[in-house]
Amino acid sequence: PRLANQIAAGEVVERPASVIKELLENSIDAGATHLHIDIEQGGVKLMRVRDNGCGIEQDDLPLALSRHATSKIYQLDDLEAVSTLGFRGEALASISSVARLALTSSTDGNVGWQAKAEGRDMQAETSPAAHPQGTTVEVRDLFFNTPARRKFLRTEKTEQNRIDDVIKRVALSQFGVGFTLRTNGRVVHQWRPATAQIEQERRVAQVCGPAFMENAVHIDIERTGLRLWGWVALPTFSRSQADLQHFYVNGRAIRDKLVSHAIRQAYQDVLYHGRHPAFVLFLELDPASVDVNVHPTKHEVRFRDNRSVHDFLFKSLHHALAEVRP
Ligand code: ADP
Ligand code: MG
Repeated sequence: PRLANQIAAGEVVERPASVIKELLENSIDAGATHLHIDIEQGGVKLMRVRDNGCGIEQDDLPLALSRHATSKIYQLDDLEAVSTLGFRGEALASISSVARLALTSSTDGNVGWQAKAEGRDMQAETSPAAHPQGTTVEVRDLFFNTPARRKFLRTEKTEQNRIDDVIKRVALSQFGVGFTLRTNGRVVHQWRPATAQIEQERRVAQVCGPAFMENAVHIDIERTGLRLWGWVALPTFSRSQADLQHFYVNGRAIRDKLVSHAIRQAYQDVLYHGRHPAFVLFLELDPASVDVNVHPTKHEVRFRDNRSVHDFLFKSLHHALAEVRP
């Protein structure tokens, strides 16, 4: 079982950034409105996420650390209409199998409890611990028991950059959530919750850089149960940056051939010959018409109706871009 656990863990826990992704998604699933993130030494020494979400009951703390325990799916049918970000119930178990993990939580802000796991050793008992309403997950000494995997890590700076990318990707999809990011003890980002469009645009400018926002157009198009909204860069945004392409399906960041193709076609058709499109776009549709259960790292999706999604994306962007064509 030890080997099986660690092989399975490899699917989720490749590097510090993959840990951060899971922790952020858990906090968001818990309804948090502010996340405090602490990173030390590129995440290898410490990754800590504190949220003000619903918290975890004392009895559920050890469960949260065990494999295939999830509070998010009650019947198999739920898999068909997944709306929460995490749903496999293996992230915390996988992380704790390759690190020292402490889970501290309170559901009411009065009484708090902590559970710990180190490598495969999970403490069955919880101990009392002061904690405001919400949850803190602290991950220390990543890969302390798997030196081979530790060797595959890049420099602190590279790992930190990957963590930043993950946080940015999440921050763009969760405007209602505030973020405080501290790196090696220093506050590097402080993003307030954003609801109005102007606040959202401030968030996008903070995350993607002011140049993107200054040269982008806002779109919001809805048709037969599909909605596409967000910002697309105009030709005046000259930096051809391949990684300024953020696409979300029902709040989940994805990379998808069909989506890229539709966007590229619309850009090329209207104005952007030979250029990388830059965008922050959100597609919203009935959760039942998209399958997110494709891959453990969950970057892929499968649409029930490829043709109509492609069509909608292409036409919406085509229309929006043609309107602002210089
Ligand atoms: P999953 O998210 O797929 O359910 P995880 O291993 O990531 O699996 O988490 C296991 C369980 O722990 C979750 O289903 C949830 O009940 C609980 N949990 C984890 N993180 C948090 C959090 N930040 N706030 C509240 N509950 C949490
Ligand atoms: Mg999860």
